[in-house]
Amino acid sequence: MTTDLAIPATHPGDELRDSALRQLASAAKALNLDPGMHKFLRVPERALIVSVPVMLEEGNLEVFTGYRVQHSTGRGPGKGGIRFHPNVTLSEVEGLAMLMTWKCAVTDLPLGGAKGGVAVDPRRLTRRQVERLTKRYTAAILPIIGPEQDIPAPDVNTDDSTMAWIVDTVTMMTGKHSPAVVTGKPVELGGSRGRTEATGRGVAFVTLELLKKMGRPPEGTPVAVQGFGNVGSITAKALAEAGCRIVAISDVSGGYAATGGIDIPKAIEHTKGHPQRLLEGFPGLSRISNEELLALDVDVLVPAALEGQITAANAKNVRAKIIVEGANGPVTSEADRILTDRGITIVPDILANAGGVVVSYFEWVQSRAGFYWELDEVERRLEIYMRRAMELVLSTAKTYDSTPREAAFIVAVERVAHAIEKRGIFP
Ligand code: NAD
Repeated sequence: MTTDLAIPATHPGDELRDSALRQLASAAKALNLDPGMHKFLRVPERALIVSVPVMLEEGNLEVFTGYRVQHSTGRGPGKGGIRFHPNVTLSEVEGLAMLMTWKCAVTDLPLGGAKGGVAVDPRRLTRRQVERLTKRYTAAILPIIGPEQDIPAPDVNTDDSTMAWIVDTVTMMTGKHSPAVVTGKPVELGGSRGRTEATGRGVAFVTLELLKKMGRPPEGTPVAVQGFGNVGSITAKALAEAGCRIVAISDVSGGYAATGGIDIPKAIEHTKGHPQRLLEGFPGLSRISNEELLALDVDVLVPAALEGQITAANAKNVRAKIIVEGANGPVTSEADRILTDRGITIVPDILANAGGVVVSYFEWVQSRAGFYWELDEVERRLEIYMRRAMELVLSTAKTYDSTPREAAFIVAVERVAHAIEKRGIFP
């Protein structure tokens, strides 16, 4: 294991874990949770730190540090992505693993929460070197992963090829074809149909459920979507199909608006033909800045680009009535307070963008059964899971007089605590 003496005293990863702990504490208080149970849920069940040696060129050995953390397996095997990023630390992985526990619980999946990562900048490695790194990391964490223990998936800088390399490593090391060890695989290797679109479709399902509960028909509802990658473009497409009027979209090239509504399938076609997959050059729309998009007078705003987009500085400009967090953490905690005080309803990320993990669960089921579903089956079931979770979170918010964010944590923490209580503390 390499020791990085330059690690700062506080790190963004610490902040992430501390914020997850604060959200747990607030749910524990609302639930009047047993202090012992609260103590148990504050810490991961298991954390593994591994060294990942990779021969970069002949004679040039580099050693990276990898982690796999299982926060809770109270409701089922751990589930969570693997990220390759220079900023990966144990505390960040711990915080992300805890959030996976709540994300799986709020959507009622029979899975726990886990996360993994390697502190590496993959852009500085060749594809072949990333493959070797992935395979060595997989071999190192093999004792604690598996279809009945902990099922990794893609995250930042990892994708379906990374998952295929993991399947290969586990298959070679165990002598058994092992597609159920990960999700987010290529469809040819047992990936689920509909996985790529799942997060965006899930964002759309929760938005439509909320509009229904508010007695607002989707037809003509003005919506702005920030970010036009996987999540943003599919959300915009699904909401437009349901009748919403998508009046603004954006990506790194800027914002694009049309009060009458944007032809989303055409915009997606345009990005497919652009060398960097951008909206740049899409004709017939007025150009706006990303800041202007966030301040548009719309009913629904979907930030689906990056974290920290709505902050204490710009929260007062937001005119949307509903914010649905497509991205992870797009609203800072200060902004969350300001928006809540202003009566804006926020659908939190752990619920809004959980569609990806719901279909990952379907993929795990399919890979274990060796029987693969048609796309309409995947989408039908995804809609049931997302709408049901949204309905429960809204009714819990009423019961506890809380925000949907607090309610999502209350639902999740209560479910995990109940499962652990039913099982009893071993031995
Ligand atoms: P992506 O890379 O496909 O798309 C990101 C989009 O955001 C791109 O269109 C990019 O141009 C745009 N963008 C980047 N910076 C921007 C800026 N400053 N202003 C406006 N647009 C900007 O990524 P994605 O998979 O769509 O993920 C988006 C977010 O959703 C991330 O926070 C991710 O963690 C989260 N998320 C994704 C999934 C999934 O299944 N893909 C699941 C859960 C959460």
